[in-house]
Amino acid sequence: MKYTDLKIQTQREFPNNARTAGFGWLVRAGYLTRENQLLPLGERAIEKLRNQSSDSSFLFHLSLPILQNDRETFFPLSSGGLEIAHCESCKYAERLELARFKKTPLPREEELPLEKVLTPNCHTIEALADFLHIPKEKTAKALMYTRAADGRFVFVVVRGDMTLSEAKLRNAVGGIKLADAEAVQRSGAEAGFASPIGLRDALIVVDDLIPQSQNLVAGANEAEYHLKNTNYGRDYTAEIVTDLALAQAGDGCANCGNLLTVSSAILLRTQSGFDFENILLAIAETHHDDKGLTLPPPASPFDVYLMHVPGKTVDTLGKAQEIYEILQNAGVSVLFDNRDERAGVKFNDADLIGCPLRVTAGEKGLKEGKVEIKRRIALDVQLVPLEEIVQFIASRP
Ligand SMILES: [Zn+2]
Repeated sequence: MKYTDLKIQTQREFPNNARTAGFGWLVRAGYLTRENQLLPLGERAIEKLRNQSSDSSFLFHLSLPILQNDRETFFPLSSGGLEIAHCESCKYAERLELARFKKTPLPREEELPLEKVLTPNCHTIEALADFLHIPKEKTAKALMYTRAADGRFVFVVVRGDMTLSEAKLRNAVGGIKLADAEAVQRSGAEAGFASPIGLRDALIVVDDLIPQSQNLVAGANEAEYHLKNTNYGRDYTAEIVTDLALAQAGDGCANCGNLLTVSSAILLRTQSGFDFENILLAIAETHHDDKGLTLPPPASPFDVYLMHVPGKTVDTLGKAQEIYEILQNAGVSVLFDNRDERAGVKFNDADLIGCPLRVTAGEKGLKEGKVEIKRRIALDVQLVPLEEIVQFIASRP
């Protein structure tokens, strides 16, 4: 492919909207517009990635630091919109909202009798715990929803020190929306002072830590009152007991107990397939230096960046054209910079675009029947006889 046919326009400056280095380099190298639209070079890169993606170890060959489970593959990126929980030790990785973690039950206690207490203005777990001088983990937090499918009232309980993951709740009961005042009233619950005790027609769903937690303070379903010493099994039961609590950084991994890390990420793969634009971004984030992209062969839209340095006595363009055809015939994919530009401009653009090898046809070398070959990530240049170029390139890893 010829440079001019691809209409490549490299940029001298980083776009001022670049949130990550990889995006900035893709824009500067002419793969993307500042508005994140693919340009012909970027389309070419994605086509190459797509062609390799039937190989199950495709992502592995791109040398990306990925996190994955059997359904999804993530690439950690500070500007990514997805939060991932990850265990460094056993490589467990999951969307934070679905991540399992090790829950530590409080020491088992003897069940004490229910006791109704006046708790004025205690509308939050924090206010309640402060008022009663108890830790938040000795309270039960209530959340109320309506199930979308059948309009059923869903009453959820998690321990007061935990946060409900609505994603886990949806997995357990299906689609939900917050319950309106009428639905709350119909169930017999009292917003702000609610508990599952004595409700009518409620689908009660509790976090799996609740049956192991004795003597929790919960709402009395009466304004300004709470109940001390509520106990699952004795005072109420649930239709569903499952993991509902949201993991957070520093929680123990459910598999191995090591502490979970939470990081932002982008998705590279879901069960419906690969996201090639995100893969291209991940490649650029991972493979660049201070001059541009440094793409490994499977990630590069072309194997070779071929250029000529305009000469005085030798037709370097004509020679480069010959080399272009020889390489293409040998199955090497080539980006041929056929522009009549100064060498410095072309070297800079070659570095920006980041093909693994640069082949330069210059007057001095050609007089000896040689071209210069430089690996993008190496400092030295090698002089290779014209008749050995194909073999030389084929032998590179
Ligand atoms: Zn682990």
